[in-house]
Amino acid sequence: MLVKKRIDYYPVTVILLVLGIDLFIFFFSHSLWPLLIWMPLSLNIKGWICCWNHHHQHYNFFTVPWANRLIELIMGMQTGIVGEAWVLHHTLGHHLNYLDQSLDESAWKTPQGRLMSRLEYTFKVTLMSYPKAFKVGQRHTKSRNKLIQNLLLTALVLGVLCYIDWVKTLIMFIIPMVFLLFMSVHETYDHHAGLDEEDPHKATYNIMDRWYNLCTCNLGYHTAHHIQCGRHWSELPQLHEEIKHKIPAHLYREGTFPFNLMTKMEQQFLELRHQRG
Ligand SMILES: [Zn+2]
Repeated sequence: MLVKKRIDYYPVTVILLVLGIDLFIFFFSHSLWPLLIWMPLSLNIKGWICCWNHHHQHYNFFTVPWANRLIELIMGMQTGIVGEAWVLHHTLGHHLNYLDQSLDESAWKTPQGRLMSRLEYTFKVTLMSYPKAFKVGQRHTKSRNKLIQNLLLTALVLGVLCYIDWVKTLIMFIIPMVFLLFMSVHETYDHHAGLDEEDPHKATYNIMDRWYNLCTCNLGYHTAHHIQCGRHWSELPQLHEEIKHKIPAHLYREGTFPFNLMTKMEQQFLELRHQRG
C-alpha cells in the first residue's frame, strides 16, 4: 500500500482533485473569469489542506520518499508552505519551544512580555516564518537542504507556469500561496495565545466541533497533538480521551466559521427531525 494509513486516502484524494481543477482551469480556460470564480472558492478547501500539510509533515502520508516529496510540492503550491518548512519551523521549532515564549518560533508574546494582537502576531510570525525555518535548519542541515531544494523546485514550477501565462499563475497559485501562508499563521493564534503555562495540558486550546475536526483532520484535538506530536491525526481523539481529565474546561473553544454554522444547522435539522419523528 502506498499510504501508511488507509484513512490518508481522504486528504490525498482531495489534494489531487483540487490540483486537477486548478490545472484544468489554468490550461483550458480562454478567459480569466473561471480563475477569478474558482480561486476564492478554492481558498477554503486549500485552508483545510494547510492543516493536512501540517499533519503530513509530522507523519508522512506515504511509505515511499518520492511520493512524499511529490505531494509536498503540490501542497506547497496550494498553501505557500513548501516541504520541510513545517518540519523546521513547527516540529523542530515550535513543538519543542512553545512553553518558553523567549524561544517559541510562533511566539504570541513580545520580548517585553506583552500579548500580541492577532494582527501583530500574524504579520510578525508570517514574515519571519521562512527566516526562522532556516535558523532552525542550522541545527538540522539535512532538513534545511531539503527545504532549499523544495523552494527551488517550487520556484522552477512557478517560473514555467509564469512563462506560459503569468497573469493566470498569479491568480491561481501565487496570490493563494501568499494569502494562505498568512491565514495559516492567523489561525494558529487561537492555539496558544495568552496561555502562559508550564504544564502542557494547560497550554493549548481545543476545539471539539465535529465539522471542524472532519475538515481539518482532528486539528481541534490540539493538546493531544502537543502531548504526542508523532501520533497520526486519526489517533488523536483516542489520545484525547486518555488525557482529557487533565485539560481544564476553559481550554475548549467553539469551532470557527464556517464550522460553527454547519454544526448549528446540523443540530437544528436533527431537532426538527426528532420533533417530527
Ligand atoms: Zn504540530
